[in-house]
Amino acid sequence: MINKPTIAISRCLSGDRVRYDGREKKHAYVNNTLSKYFQLISICPEVEIGLSVPRPPMHLVRKNQSLHAVGVQDASKDFTGRLIQHAESLLPRLSSIDAYIFKARSPSCGVYSTPVDAEDALSSGIFANHVMRLIPDLPVIDEPLLDDVNLRDQFLEATYCYSAWRQMSLDALANKKQNMIETYGMRWSLRTGLSLQYLDNVEAEEFQTVFFQGLKTYLPLDQRVRRISESLRSNAIKVNAELDRRLNNISSETNCVQSNLVALLSSLEQQNALKMSADESDLRLANG
Ligand code: SF4
Repeated sequence: MINKPTIAISRCLSGDRVRYDGREKKHAYVNNTLSKYFQLISICPEVEIGLSVPRPPMHLVRKNQSLHAVGVQDASKDFTGRLIQHAESLLPRLSSIDAYIFKARSPSCGVYSTPVDAEDALSSGIFANHVMRLIPDLPVIDEPLLDDVNLRDQFLEATYCYSAWRQMSLDALANKKQNMIETYGMRWSLRTGLSLQYLDNVEAEEFQTVFFQGLKTYLPLDQRVRRISESLRSNAIKVNAELDRRLNNISSETNCVQSNLVALLSSLEQQNALKMSADESDLRLANG
């Protein structure tokens, strides 16, 4: 039996007064409806890293190509590292959730909806962005999209599928893949416009990514493209690191073989020298 899926939500959406200005942003649909069908857990990264309520506001700025969450009045207060570390420390807990509803436009929690200071651009909050990096296939959304019935349905469908995949007790990936195709393949095909045969041909190791990235039809297209390019970039970094590791191994194995050869050669030379001196002694004895 599949347990009730679990959705993490930004804590201010639950009605708790945790925002920088001491207010809340209670979301009626999340609290009155979703709470009946899903287990909800609420997380406020800014409070959990030790910031007070109320607190001075922060915003996103770009420094040396990367985004930082810094104080609006005091830019020397940079919370980026603590928010990233907090996402990492929550990973064991986040590994048992099936979706995340974030608060839009927050420098910590927004999903591609947070303004970047002095730029005509939107990005994700530092904490949300790191959660998405750590668990790229997790269904995520920020709360304004829940007001659209179609997008909401698609998000909830992805949540149920993710929950089924996470809780499936089959060991072999190929079996899990088959089970998902039989149960949810038609819905996936309708959502993505791709055939079941296409899904069937996906390698078992790639299946999870293809299946869940495909279900993110509730995210606007530019957000999906950005997610996929970010995930490709982080995969490329992993592949490079693995290649470096293997090259290092090959180079230390080569060094080891070289030093063994040197030792072998010097031992052969020693043996040769001993043999030559023994031959000379024999010759001297023979010559009397
Ligand atoms: S948006 Fe995120 S960090 Fe800000 S108050 Fe809500 S839960 Fe806390």
